[in-house]
Parts: sequence; structure tokens; C-alpha cells
Amino acid sequence: MSLALTAPVQTEPACADDGVWLECIECGEQFAPFDDIRYTCDECDGLLEVRYANPPTFEEFGSDGRVETAPDRGVWRYAASLPFDEGISLPEGDTPLHEVPRLRESIGVNRLRIKHEGMNPTGAFKDRGMTVGVRVAKELGVDRLACASTGNTSAALAAYGARGGMETLVLLPKGKVAAGKIAQASLHNARILEVDGNFDSCLDIVQDLAARGEAYLLNSLNPFRLEGQKTIGFEILETFYEDHGKYPDRIVLPVGNAGNTAALYKAFRELVQAGSLDPSDVPKLTGVQAEGAAPMVEAIQNGADEVKRWEHVETRATAIRIGNPVNAPKALPGVRNTGGTAISVTDDEITQAQRDLAAEGVGVEPASAASVAGLRKLVSEGIVSTDEDVVCLTTGHLLKDPDAAFAAGDDPEPVPNDTDAVLEHLHS
Ligand SMILES: *Cc1c(COP(=O)(O)O)cnc(C)c1O
Ligand SMILES: [Zn+2]
Repeated sequence: MSLALTAPVQTEPACADDGVWLECIECGEQFAPFDDIRYTCDECDGLLEVRYANPPTFEEFGSDGRVETAPDRGVWRYAASLPFDEGISLPEGDTPLHEVPRLRESIGVNRLRIKHEGMNPTGAFKDRGMTVGVRVAKELGVDRLACASTGNTSAALAAYGARGGMETLVLLPKGKVAAGKIAQASLHNARILEVDGNFDSCLDIVQDLAARGEAYLLNSLNPFRLEGQKTIGFEILETFYEDHGKYPDRIVLPVGNAGNTAALYKAFRELVQAGSLDPSDVPKLTGVQAEGAAPMVEAIQNGADEVKRWEHVETRATAIRIGNPVNAPKALPGVRNTGGTAISVTDDEITQAQRDLAAEGVGVEPASAASVAGLRKLVSEGIVSTDEDVVCLTTGHLLKDPDAAFAAGDDPEPVPNDTDAVLEHLHS
């Protein structure tokens, strides 16, 4: 099976361009990467994956082995693992791996680090995918980019589209997108269409538009976006190893369309293929969803081969309010083959985790806090053992959703314009 953790390096097919090609994960059909625009397999409509004749080693990321033009940090440090050496960059990646000692203590694991993707240029990990995706769009010669979004993809697409001098179109579920995200899409000059439906309906429509040649689709269905998102996995492995002399046992992450789950798994698979990472060192990928939008969790817990679409989804964590995770066929093997699992958490558990992170100085939006809420639950249920070294991914910045932050935090206290009165208030 092509998505096995120990799949061998493949020989380069005739359709490959400089060692890069697209391959269907269902039927194995191979395609030239940049000749035509396609998002899924012509033969069976399966998901496509970018494949390399030479998967990257850690040495090719370091100062001696790096692509000559590659910077020493950020997404393009990992040019050896990407289809191009350079992209439309703001620049992105190189996010912190925070220590959170009090939170580690209260959850009760051996080590806990927080990979804060909210520190990317537009405040979410989507930038890592867009820097590659927009570069591919340039290669294909398209002039209009589009996506459906719960908010962050639209903010990133708008910013990277603007940077690349391209027109952008975003479809958002009406009334369900956090204020900061719409503000970004708007100021970066995307054309914003508010659909009277949920995210999944927006994606259905934008896929139809893309199929009719109206725009180039940059949702995570687009296999090139996941290439950029692999670099989250590379950064976690490199930094954790540097700090602790070993790799983390587990990575816990929020799941919406399961693009990150698929991308991290692909990063690890390619390092294993290249002989740079031992299969036993691959972290257990552990997905977290909100109770009101948990189709992946349902599939993992039932041992199902496919995810069943949920028609009605609801959660305060709007970034993961998704009923039909399009990357599930790539992500399910990722969770299973690494020995990971998936769990759902309530909105209240998410908000509590958001407060817990904030108390360590780490400000995240609700969806991001799902990873920490999920870890706490897994430890308390004895599914994650207390001797594990864990990295939780936090996907977006606190300022993305100011309303949720206000609701989770304390209200300002009105005081008179007078020092004595202020003191009296403080002491009362
Ligand atoms: C997009 C997004 C997610 C979901 O990520 P997937 O890769 O689709 O699973 C989670 N959190 C935030 C903040 C996001 O913007
Ligand atoms: Zn196919």
C-alpha cells in the first residue's frame, strides 16, 4: 500500500518533471506535475500526492547540504523536500516550540512543548501551504486563485495572492467566520462571497467553479499545499531533537479537513524512505476534533476505512467546524500507521485549554486549543501514558477570533478617572 510508513523509494516515471510527479493514492495512476491543472485523479477521482524520486534527508536541510538558495530557517529551508527551490514568501514557518512547565505539570506528561503556528505571517499554519501553492499557481500560469474557508485559509490566500499579484476569490460560510480572519481577507483585497451554508457546501461550490476553469483551487485538496505544511513536521523533529536528544513520542493536533495530519505523516514517511528517520522514531499522530464536528474521530474509533460525512456540525472552534474532512484518506493511515489515535472534546474543554495556554503566555484561537484539551483528556483516560514526550500543535493566533477571546477571558472593570478611586476599587 502506497501510504505505508515503510513504502520504498519509487523509480521516477517518464511523466516526472525534475524528479517530481503526482500520483493517485487510490489507483496509483501517475501524472506530470505542472502540465495540466488537476486536483484529483482522472481515472478514479482519488486524492493525488506529490512524489519525489529523491526524498529528502535531514542533511539536505542543514547548512552543509542545503539547496544553495535556501534560507537557514522557515519553510524554504526545506527546499529539498519541496517541488521548487523558492516560492512566493512573506516569509513563513520557523515558529516557536514553547515550553509550558505549569501546563505540563497539570496535564502530567514527561515533556510538553507547544508548536505555535499562530506565529506565522497571517497568524495560522495555512501560510506554509500557500507559499508553495501560489508558487505552483504561477508555474501553471493561472491568474485567479480561490478557496472555501472557515477563515484562515482565506486570510492566507488573500495575503499570498496579493504578494504574488494575483486575483483571489474566497467562499465563506455566512456568520461562521471569526472577525480577524474576514478582516484579513478583506484588507488583502480578496473578493469575499458569503455562502448561506456551512464550510462543506462552500467547498462543493468552489470545487465546481474550479472544475469549470473559473479559478485555481487552493484548498488542502490541492496536493501542493500539503507539501508546504510538511515543514511543520520537519521543524518539530529538528528542534525537539536539538533540545532533548530524541524525537517526541507523540504529536497532538486539531483536525478539520485533516490536511495537517496528512502532511505531517507524509513528512515522516519521506524521511523514513530516505533512511533519515527510523520508523520506530516516528511520533504517534493524534487528532482532536470538537464533539459537534467529529467524523474523523468516529472513523478511528469504529476502525472504519472511510469517514462518513456529518451534515450538521457545530462548535465554537469555527476553524474545525467541518463535517467532511477531504484529506481523510491520507490522514487515517497516518493516525493508524504511527500508532496514534483520535478523540473529541467539548467546547467548554476547548475554552478551558485556551485559558490554560493563555496563562502560560501563549495566545491561541479556540480550534488550536483543541489539541491541548484532547491531550488532557487522553492522559486522564490513561490512553496517553504519563512518561510520554508530547508536542501539541496550536494552529492559529488568539487575535484571529477576538470575540472568543473576550468570552473566555474576564471583562474589563469600569473605574472613575481618579487614582484614589482606582485604589479603592482594587482593594475592594
Ligand atoms: C485550518 C485550520 C485547522 C484545521 O486544519 P486541517 O489541516 O484542515 O485539519 C485547525 N485550526 C486552525 C486554526 C485552522 O486554521
Ligand atoms: Zn486514481
